[in-house]
Amino acid sequence: MTERASASPHTVAANDRLANRLPWSDESDFERARKGMIAQHAGPILNERPGGLVGVSWDTDNFAFIQGDAPPSVNPSLWRQAKLNAEHGLFEVRDGVYQVRGYDTAVVSFIATSSGWLVIDPLTTTETARAAKTLVDTHLGVRDVVAVAYTHSHIDHYGGILGIVDQERIDSGKCIVIAPDGFLHAAVSENVVAQAAMGRRATWQYGMTLPWGEHGHVDQGLSKAVPFGSSVLIAPTHVITQNFERMVIDGLVTEFQLAPDTEAPAEMHLWFPELRALCIAENCTATMHNVLTLRGALVRDALTWTRSLDDAIARYADEIDVLFASHGWPFWGRGDALTHLRNHRDLYRWMHDEAMRLANMGHTPDEIADSIELPPGLWADWTCHGYYGTVSHNVRAVYQRYFGFYDGHPASLNPYPPVESARRYVEFMGGIDTLMSNARKAFDAGDYRWVAQVMRHAVFAEPNNTAARELQASAFEQLAYQAESGPWRDIYLTGAKELREGTPPMDYPVRPSAASIGGMTPLQVFDYLAVRLDGSTAINFGHHHLAWHLTDTGDVIDLEISNGTLHSRIPSTPRTGGLSATIHCSRSDLNRLVVAEVSFAGSVENGSVRIDGSTELVTSLWNAFTTFKMFFPIIEP
Ligand SMILES: [Zn+2]
Repeated sequence: MTERASASPHTVAANDRLANRLPWSDESDFERARKGMIAQHAGPILNERPGGLVGVSWDTDNFAFIQGDAPPSVNPSLWRQAKLNAEHGLFEVRDGVYQVRGYDTAVVSFIATSSGWLVIDPLTTTETARAAKTLVDTHLGVRDVVAVAYTHSHIDHYGGILGIVDQERIDSGKCIVIAPDGFLHAAVSENVVAQAAMGRRATWQYGMTLPWGEHGHVDQGLSKAVPFGSSVLIAPTHVITQNFERMVIDGLVTEFQLAPDTEAPAEMHLWFPELRALCIAENCTATMHNVLTLRGALVRDALTWTRSLDDAIARYADEIDVLFASHGWPFWGRGDALTHLRNHRDLYRWMHDEAMRLANMGHTPDEIADSIELPPGLWADWTCHGYYGTVSHNVRAVYQRYFGFYDGHPASLNPYPPVESARRYVEFMGGIDTLMSNARKAFDAGDYRWVAQVMRHAVFAEPNNTAARELQASAFEQLAYQAESGPWRDIYLTGAKELREGTPPMDYPVRPSAASIGGMTPLQVFDYLAVRLDGSTAINFGHHHLAWHLTDTGDVIDLEISNGTLHSRIPSTPRTGGLSATIHCSRSDLNRLVVAEVSFAGSVENGSVRIDGSTELVTSLWNAFTTFKMFFPIIEP
């Protein structure tokens, strides 16, 4: 294990300065996070792994150390949030509305219908969702799940559905699965096409390789941690396409407010007029959220986001009694619910408008990020603080949404890549020794931001220089100890860890599950394969038309290989002439092939894949699909 430095005097002073500005007298969030607790899950939540092994999906003991005052190595505001997110159990929100919180990154809500449950957001994994369901069954009685609603397209809101309801009930229509318009496309493109890089970056954002502790992971800001276990993507059986569409779900009147292009590309809020309760999905939680999540995803639209909250206020302000979300705790009473909605509405508009005002005055992302702070009214609201998103990276994201990567400066058009520029910087800085000695002075003066920035060049120029790596690691560590944002802390600490221990040597393949592939349309599957196609190999294939015939569904997908790219379409009349090959297999076999549960050559051999025409071309095409690996280097070339 690496040594972890204690907080430096500069860090202690920075955390003290912050602590003196925080609104400590407002303790209402602690009351909210504990209100209505019925029962708690005892012990860890286990999962079964291949080979009869048993793993741990979730363990509340992991965060039992978060007690008392903040240690010097944790930002005091983040420590407070870490305590709040550590509250766990089955809670009554109001009569007929229950939540299970603190056993997964997300919160699952159970709304009583006449004879059963509408379950909103069935968590990330089967295991954590099953534990939540068991808690509900034990303390509220066993009732049928008549509907599941996914509020949005992120895996922590749909991946655990099989822990709540079995596939058979969904297939038979006894349980409908409701999602907002565009859900499937967004779920697939966010979590499959970008899966490998997003997964690696997510391990940083969520501190997934860090130990728990006051020198390690304490909180994600939004919730405690990511659970381990099995996740699936089961397609919705009822898609909400009309804003404010109403449905009666087994006697429960439910109104759906569509909120596309907010926290997720496909998102919706649920209003229960008889209960006077609003589920605001993930658009208004107990933290500032991300306009751009650091794991990577399409940049979000802060303007649509603030508008969706304003629309909710306009429509429900007169009737709302309780506001709940899919992370964090509820807000009771019309006054508090509205204050919460208004503050978060103001928060996203503030970041959007201030960033764009400055951009229109000629300021660039680094300048904008350094000059916008929360207004006092929002600073006084703990839940507006940057525990998850930060003002800094959110206002950069606003700029990105409108202007992209290019800051408008000619020198940014064509910069050298990191290693090339690092070598030149180090030389211009007078060589590695001079650079290091200056960087050490900056470190001693507490200018960790600068040390982190310049030492990037040192490490990329000399990745084997352990002193350089250690100096950058030490700077990251102090920045982590000062960070109010859980993800910033985890990212800095993961950087320090990988600088000291090296990029993890595990290079296992990253693939979606066969079930996830099964939830995709055929064209989405081929778009995913096209991303995996190694263009430099495929340019040698020449120009070809292929047909892929899915024997069980009857779909015929026309494929075209052209200039090293792969195109797919489903034509009204399948092409018959000019085909280099036709491939026949079932859709489920295709799913298994894509995720390498079965090999292509083996499938051809045993006949589950049949090829008319050039077997050689099809085999070469299949072999040219890149296998993405986990743990590519980040802090070193
Ligand atoms: Zn979520």
